[in-house]
Amino acid sequence: MPINKPEKLDKPESCDNVKVVVRCRPLNEREKATGYKMAVNVDEMRGTITVHKTDSSNEPPKTFTFDTVFGPESKQLDVYNLTARPIIDSVLEGYNGTIFAYGQTGTGKTFTMEGVRAVPELRGIIPNSFAHIFGHIAKAEGDTRFLVRVSYLEIYNEEVRDLLGKDQTQRLEVKERPDVGVYIKDLSAYVVNNADDMDRIMTLGHKNRSVGATNMNEHSSRSHAIFTITIECSEKGVDGNMHVRMGKLHLVDLAGSERQAKTGATGQRLKEATKINLSLSTLGNVISALVDGKSTHVPYRNSKLTRLLQDSLGGNSKTMMCANIGPADYNYDETISTLRYANRAKNIKNKARINEDPKDALLRQFQKEIEELKKKLEEGEEISGSETSESEEEDEDDDGEIGEDGEKRKKRRGKKKVSPDKMVEMQAKIEEERKALETKLDMEEEERNKARAELEKREKDLLKAQQEHQSLLEKLSALEKKVIVGGVDLLAKAEEQEKLLEESNMELEERRKRAEQLRKELEEKEQERLDIEEKYTSLQEEAQGKTKKLKKVWTMLMAAKSEAVAMS
Ligand code: ADP
Ligand code: MG
Repeated sequence: MPINKPEKLDKPESCDNVKVVVRCRPLNEREKATGYKMAVNVDEMRGTITVHKTDSSNEPPKTFTFDTVFGPESKQLDVYNLTARPIIDSVLEGYNGTIFAYGQTGTGKTFTMEGVRAVPELRGIIPNSFAHIFGHIAKAEGDTRFLVRVSYLEIYNEEVRDLLGKDQTQRLEVKERPDVGVYIKDLSAYVVNNADDMDRIMTLGHKNRSVGATNMNEHSSRSHAIFTITIECSEKGVDGNMHVRMGKLHLVDLAGSERQAKTGATGQRLKEATKINLSLSTLGNVISALVDGKSTHVPYRNSKLTRLLQDSLGGNSKTMMCANIGPADYNYDETISTLRYANRAKNIKNKARINEDPKDALLRQFQKEIEELKKKLEEGEEISGSETSESEEEDEDDDGEIGEDGEKRKKRRGKKKVSPDKMVEMQAKIEEERKALETKLDMEEEERNKARAELEKREKDLLKAQQEHQSLLEKLSALEKKVIVGGVDLLAKAEEQEKLLEESNMELEERRKRAEQLRKELEEKEQERLDIEEKYTSLQEEAQGKTKKLKKVWTMLMAAKSEAVAMS
């Protein structure tokens, strides 16, 4: 699919609700061994989750409906294709996208977002999105250029830490600028060229996430991790000018939603816990304010998380929330609370639009720098004080500078642009002159030294120019490496994953068609049954009518008969 469809240029913003899906994980071994019962029933066809009490109370079961629901047997690839794929496709078009995983600790947020990265079928949304993004770029046509950057941060106790930063003790500030909105000062962003690069960066972030955490489980359940992928794409628009579109994708693994009372914290520890969860409770307040229809104020500014993700909720973003729940009865209260939370989030309305030529785009700047560097390299390097060089005279002739008056010529001679080829020639010439000088016998020592010094100076100048040229070349190559040309093969190892995703998507489509077919067949059968029943009923009625008539005739006959007998 081409990224920059011209007709989309004038497309107004699209108004979408936040998509909410629910995923229920299987009972784990410990839960099975303890004898916990399933309290959750998932109906994937109807999109409903029903939770019931397993004790003797007579409480009726509670049923919730969502866009899509996933039962304990759900596959990672299906979760990706059904929920994340449309969002990543939009980001590739230049929309912002956000995917949240919400739920109690241990219900599968990290499994859903990251999964088991070493096993292709068990990879979660984040690694699958890498394959999807670079698969798309590899298929892009024409003169499309891409720039992909990632950053990875963590919010713990209302402090922001750069998981890709060099100094892990540093805390970052959240800032705001009218032209680019909310951002994090000094947050590192890595330009990536392929899915493997991204994967490596994710691993680095992981390592840093556990740095300083005494208990990694507790730490990860109390912190929010945001992996952000920014995709810029430049293409010629209908107006003939280059346009840059920029989509930002936030992949958010939220802190555990369990209420603090359950963790048994009191006093100072409870206070700490409240602060730790400030971002999560503010997220809840923001959702409430957005959906109750009466609030004039949405408290985005009350926490780091909601400030950073302001666009994701009620703003310029296509957003999906995956609410994760556990199936066992002992989690009944948390499960109900998560489902209620998710149910409210369904009502948030977002207005997403394609971000065209945004102020903070880097692609155009990089492309301009590349052009300038190329021009500079073509022109060659300046070499001063080489006016005695003969080759330079030739060079001037080559440049068609014959006929310039002497004055001008002399001035230009002080500094002269020399191409790399010419530099090699000049080097050879210096060597030659040096040899000639040493074999010249009829020369005063003083004169010889002077000539030597002069050659040395020329050589030094030449070397300087060569080094300068080399450094420009390196700069150019580094910049060119950052900008990805659409259509080139950059999947490398991720190719397999992309294939897997695509195949599974097609399979999903097949299954969907089959289910639809089955549904139709069932409907037809049902209709047939009804028809037969109707026919049967009318036949029965007919028979009844006929029987009645027959009976009547019979009675009449009998009556006539008895009358006749009586008469005789
Ligand atoms: P959270 O991040 O919400 O605290 P995790 O993702 O760490 O929870 O999941 C807890 C455990 O349950 C992990 O061992 C994980 O592998 C397992 N798990 C979670 N969801 C599933 C699932 N859908 N299928 C199989 N195992 C799962
Ligand atoms: Mg987790």
